[in-house]
Amino acid sequence: MDIDTNAIRILVVDDDPVLLAVLEELFHQLGQMNVQSVDSSVEALRILADVSPQPHLVICDLNMPDIDGIELLRQLKTQRFQGHVAITTGEDERVLQTAMNLLRIQGLRSAGCVRKPVRRESLESILRAVARARTEPTRRPEARAYGADELRVALAKDQFYTVYQPQVRMDDLRVIGVEALVRWAHPQDGTVYPDQFIPVVEEFGLIDDLTWAVARSALTDLRRFTEIGLGFRMSINVSMDNLIDLAFPDRLVALATEVGASLGSVAIEITESRLIHDAAATLDILARLRLKHVRLSIDDFGTGHSSLAQLRDIPFDELKIDKGFVQGAADSPTNRAIVEASLGMAHRLDVETVAEGVETKEDWEYLRASHCDVVQGYFVGKPMPADELESFVSSWHARSKALWGHVSA
Ligand code: C2E
Ligand code: CA
Ligand code: CA
Repeated sequence: MDIDTNAIRILVVDDDPVLLAVLEELFHQLGQMNVQSVDSSVEALRILADVSPQPHLVICDLNMPDIDGIELLRQLKTQRFQGHVAITTGEDERVLQTAMNLLRIQGLRSAGCVRKPVRRESLESILRAVARARTEPTRRPEARAYGADELRVALAKDQFYTVYQPQVRMDDLRVIGVEALVRWAHPQDGTVYPDQFIPVVEEFGLIDDLTWAVARSALTDLRRFTEIGLGFRMSINVSMDNLIDLAFPDRLVALATEVGASLGSVAIEITESRLIHDAAATLDILARLRLKHVRLSIDDFGTGHSSLAQLRDIPFDELKIDKGFVQGAADSPTNRAIVEASLGMAHRLDVETVAEGVETKEDWEYLRASHCDVVQGYFVGKPMPADELESFVSSWHARSKALWGHVSA
């Protein structure tokens, strides 16, 4: 294995002694000496409640007497377990998928799944997932709730900044765009990520201020990118609450003119995170944006919020398949069915497809074979400050050439 996984502390929970023995043996073959196994959730929780160093990885069976795997996941969440979790099961794909979704919704860190009978390759793949994550900066260590007053001050003091995540077109491997993602440089807490404050910002009616702050820096950076020859598209996230002000399109035109950016290179990403208050106003705004050649993108497609009805009613140019379906699509028939249905529908409607959250080469190759148009995710690159993009593009060209022998000029 190319990544050093030796220092990983592993806790295996399964009521089947034979499986425990098999797993231990396989892990030893893979050079893992730090494996502890227990035959019940109760025992696992006792170990985890201890003060000694926590395991980096808990592998748990779904079907166990007393406390089953699903309940164990809930307890791990309650205990604020910070490590990774992998699931083993002999149950069918749909049950496994439900458990994996639960992991995600609980906010636990997933290392993947191991289907029984256990194969060495699936263990290697979860070890790689843990090792990879350990080399990344830890994100959102302690979720904290922020209040409206704090956010008002942050807006007034201009504490928000924008980072950009590259998007790569599959057919020629070129970096064709970036998505602007907001960050909060909190004076005490350091970098705070949007999931921790966007809902509060929306709830207290501050989203207009935030969106326009982000749009201003994104469009200014777009002009700079164009100046240095990076012909990017710039995608900006817009909340439904922004789309009730009929002046939105004119304001965007005015901003683009002021900072010297071309609206034809701008995309607006929309998720229905809030109810549409006034469908007529929203449609009016979106239609006018489209007339001004702004691209419209339906974000998080496939989740409850972004639906077929929206796709019918709004003249979208782009569909972003939610990362919940993209991640692990290579080895989940359920996710593949949803991804392929989304791709097929988008192509029939002549809408470009973007897969987000692509982390592995397996998922990348799968999406390429399935004719997805554009890919965004850690596999290509993480969100980064504007001034790192130029060198990112050169290193991506070198890397893609090494990986696929492709020349993407
Ligand atoms: P989103 O629009 O779905 O953005 C994609 C999120 O996925 C980003 O999280 C990005 O950092 C993350 N991501 C990208 N590639 C990968 C990957 O390979 N693996 C994983 N695990 N994650 C990946 P981020 O930046 O924390 O943003 C979270 C959400 O906050 C965004 O989801 C978006 O809905 C919202 N948001 C971000 N910036 C803004 C903004 O300026 N305005 C508004 N209204 N919402 C924003
Ligand atoms: Ca987005
Ligand atoms: Ca998304």
